[in-house]
Amino acid sequence: MNFYSLNKQAPNVSFKDAVIKGIAPDRGLYFPENITPLSASFFENIESLSNVEIAFEAIKQFVSEEIPENKLKAILTTVLDFDFPVVKIDKNTATLELFHGPTMAFKDVGARFMANCLGYFSEGENKEVTVLVATSGDTGGAVANGFLGVKGVKVVILYPSGKVSDIQERQLTTLGKNITALEVDGTFDDCQKMVKTAFLDDDLLGKMQLTSANSINVARWLPQLFYFLFAYKEVKSKGKEIVFSVPSGNFGNICAGMMAQKLGMPVKQFIAATNVNDTVPQFMKTQEYNPKPSTATISNAMDVGDPSNFIRIRHLFKDNFEDLSKNLSSYSFTDEETKKAMIQIHNTCGYAADPHGAVGYLGLKKYQENEVNTYGIFLETAHPVKFLDIVENTIGKKIEIPTQITKVMDKEKISIKIETYNELKDYLLDN
Ligand SMILES: *Cc1c(COP(=O)(O)O)cnc(C)c1O
Repeated sequence: MNFYSLNKQAPNVSFKDAVIKGIAPDRGLYFPENITPLSASFFENIESLSNVEIAFEAIKQFVSEEIPENKLKAILTTVLDFDFPVVKIDKNTATLELFHGPTMAFKDVGARFMANCLGYFSEGENKEVTVLVATSGDTGGAVANGFLGVKGVKVVILYPSGKVSDIQERQLTTLGKNITALEVDGTFDDCQKMVKTAFLDDDLLGKMQLTSANSINVARWLPQLFYFLFAYKEVKSKGKEIVFSVPSGNFGNICAGMMAQKLGMPVKQFIAATNVNDTVPQFMKTQEYNPKPSTATISNAMDVGDPSNFIRIRHLFKDNFEDLSKNLSSYSFTDEETKKAMIQIHNTCGYAADPHGAVGYLGLKKYQENEVNTYGIFLETAHPVKFLDIVENTIGKKIEIPTQITKVMDKEKISIKIETYNELKDYLLDN
């Protein structure tokens, strides 16, 4: 399958090149040339398929030719070796838990899939690929874990010194091997600026193959559509119209859900739930897209003022606002409302939601006020342990620390401190 740039000023490329480049030379995001719906029998018989079989059927059209079917199945078996349970909250509501992977946030699947694809493509190539990524927390750990030990790929992660949690810092600084953590004296925005500068630095690009590992990369974005199919398989027998509420930051996850819908999965509505960073909820009200600087919240993985994947969503609906609003509702919630929701969910069924999941729950409940006959699923994107202080203080209950987390807690942190872009560049050229 070929991919084109949404800016339309760059040549179409293969899946392989889209993964290796990350973003098109005209700075546009890549988008698949065709989306062919899966057969009706696929959805009729989905209960009889394993997760790997579902994922294979869904992704193969985007990857085909460039990764042989046997190899693709092997990759999916490695990537999807944990569970994605749907847990009942109340009569018409359930949560889809996406946090059972190695770093306990939903980014594990995308990061692992991208790492395995890049690893496959770099076999037999003599040019090493360097993955450069800035993180405010979860992305770094998922990427470090996913790419660990992948031959032909080096990973350089920039994170703001003192501004990620202890757990998150250990997840990205203790692995070693092909993973290097650069500890930046500055904020997440400073890290991101350095990464952007590197991607525009022709001198650097002439000397090395750089790619990104955030959800603009098609290999990180597309596999997220599996989640929605897995959930559909679980709740199809309820016989109700299904709605998904997705706690959204860069809108990669929800956009992947909409791809599952384009593949023929029956969904009544998607709900993009955000914290006070409400660029998209405002757009759905006013039809005006006004990006703004981000505001810090307790659901900090969604502190995004200019969501990079929203352009893909608009494109999916051919920029027709009426069509888009028939499929997408979007609501924004404050930290106070989020904490109240965490308490309410805990009181309803003893469930400990993290702040991101709680925002998803709020979006769902708001939508269901008028759509009482729908069956709603909100995505739980991180394990509550990743936001331990807020969760424990809000619901007044201790959270048990899972083994994935205890394993990294006593490992030694190794990072290289940098302050300026030139130090980053020197590091990249020297190593
Ligand atoms: C990244 C992240 C999100 C936001 O996902 P997008 O695809 O950027 O919208 C939500 N919750 C958690 C815990 C995350 O790590």
